[in-house]
Amino acid sequence: EQAAHDGLKWKYHDPDSLQDASWKLSMLSQLDDAVDRGEVWAAYQPKVDLKTRKIVGAEALARWTHPEKGPIAAAEFIAAAEQNDRIGKLTAFMLDGAISAAATLNKGDHHFDMSVNLSGRLLSDKALVGRIAILLERHGLDPRHLTLELTETAALAGSGEALEMLTQLRELGLNISIDDYGTGLSTLEYLKKIPASEIKIDQSFIKGMVDNRSEKLMVSSTIALAHSLGRQVVAEGVETREALELLAELECDIAQGYITGRPMSLESLRRRLASERRSKVA
Ligand code: C2E
Ligand code: MG
Ligand code: MG
Ligand code: MG
Repeated sequence: EQAAHDGLKWKYHDPDSLQDASWKLSMLSQLDDAVDRGEVWAAYQPKVDLKTRKIVGAEALARWTHPEKGPIAAAEFIAAAEQNDRIGKLTAFMLDGAISAAATLNKGDHHFDMSVNLSGRLLSDKALVGRIAILLERHGLDPRHLTLELTETAALAGSGEALEMLTQLRELGLNISIDDYGTGLSTLEYLKKIPASEIKIDQSFIKGMVDNRSEKLMVSSTIALAHSLGRQVVAEGVETREALELLAELECDIAQGYITGRPMSLESLRRRLASERRSKVA
């Protein structure tokens, strides 16, 4: 962080930052192959309905286990991939896995909603809608069980091209969610404009709200606003029982965070779901 602000001189004299920059480049050039080699995989974090307290879905989160470096944080490789237009292959891989998983987790009366993160930059890719339609068809998933979580939405709101793409995705029958809501420029204007059926309140507000009256007020008024616009509300980063109960009181719809489960393998998610579906206790 500092290096970027202190200018080139500082950067060139710091061995760590040099190493850092060259690692970033090499990481980027390795990402697509890493997907092919199976080093990249999807973790799934359960989402819980705050009324029934049952799992209603999950968010797919990309994980990269590098053979030498070990696990690389999603924030690290995704930001770099997005900035360099290298996010396409990873996204196709994540969509395929998540849609296939969701198709198998929707059984009979049991519904399961899958969320996948989509970089706003991909909304300029004209082929995206067709490719998602093909995946839904191939795996036999009803589009209403798929949600695309979008960040960078403030930037999108100004672009007619992106809005047109979002409308086409909605017409396909899937859902759009505004991720990390409350960070960046979340104006009323773009909340109204973007055809999203859901907003996800950023975890920074959820962490702060238990001890901080003004943060709690922000959360409760955001929930009220979203509901008045007909949007469903998800809280992310819910770590404690206390936060969970407060969110239920504030009539938030869905909670996601360490308290609902750490991001886990598909196998673990299946087991968790199977045991919940077996138990008859409401
Ligand atoms: P996000 O979409 O906002 O995902 C939530 C992040 O919060 C995840 O970090 C998750 O592991 C973490 N988290 C969940 N519950 C808690 C909690 O209770 N406490 C705390 N402290 N953290 C919690 P992760 O997996 O490191 O991902 C970081 C970001 O990377 C994601 O933020 C998302 O923006 C991006 N990302 C991850 N996978 C993908 C992907 O397949 N495609 C794209 N475009 N972006 C992705
Ligand atoms: Mg997300
Ligand atoms: Mg988020
Ligand atoms: Mg986030």
